[in-house]
Amino acid sequence: MRKNLVAANWKMHGSKAGINRLLTAIKAELPSAGCEVLLCPPAVYLEQVQKELQGTQIALGAQNAYPGDEGAFTGEVAFAMLPEFDCSHVIIGHSERREIFAESDEFIAQKFAAAQEHGLTPILCIGESQTERENAETEKVVLGQLQAVLDKVGIAAFADAVIAYEPIWAIGTGLTASPQQAQEVHAVIRDFLSGQDQNIAEGITILYGGSVKGANASELFQQPDIDGGLVGGASLKAEEFITICKSFN
Ligand code: PEP
Repeated sequence: MRKNLVAANWKMHGSKAGINRLLTAIKAELPSAGCEVLLCPPAVYLEQVQKELQGTQIALGAQNAYPGDEGAFTGEVAFAMLPEFDCSHVIIGHSERREIFAESDEFIAQKFAAAQEHGLTPILCIGESQTERENAETEKVVLGQLQAVLDKVGIAAFADAVIAYEPIWAIGTGLTASPQQAQEVHAVIRDFLSGQDQNIAEGITILYGGSVKGANASELFQQPDIDGGLVGGASLKAEEFITICKSFN
């Protein structure tokens, strides 16, 4: 079901004390947010955040997991482990994982399937690089990344998934896609899905990610095909994050 959602990707940031301070501020202000709010801390802090979110409407998600239920995968966290921490979502295919950890489209598709097998909603990140945009390849890249997952799981699996369009050139750079640039790509994604299943296309939540902040969230979220944001840097600053979440009001 299509809904307004703001998801915080804390990446590899945080400490027990810092998270406690951030959550105190967020919990005090967010009951009045006009959207669903999801926090994705580093895996070692999932239990702390799980405890601190008890009794709130704020959801918890993971930033990554490995598609094996258990076994000799030193250093990895299994999708199977995440429900124990009340995780409802998991980020899949973030460009940092694609680039730094060389995750392929096929591996990401495997992760998407594994997340759903464990009752988790995957947030599938797709997006083009600066060079790809300059070469007018945005559509080809974004739809290619989407198709790789569709080939493995089929369109029906997208009834319980979120897509995050994240142009790589806008992530952590301070450069934001203009609301028009972002809307254009969101519409392409929804149209493409619509060619396969109109109900799923209309129902899917598509987030924008890439230097979302308090000052630009409202204009982005007003676009017809932008249902919210996946927020990195600004999600670590309580006031900024709260402003973003309240941008739907
Ligand atoms: C992200 O981590 O997905 C992201 C969009 O980061 P930032 O908001 O810092 O650009």
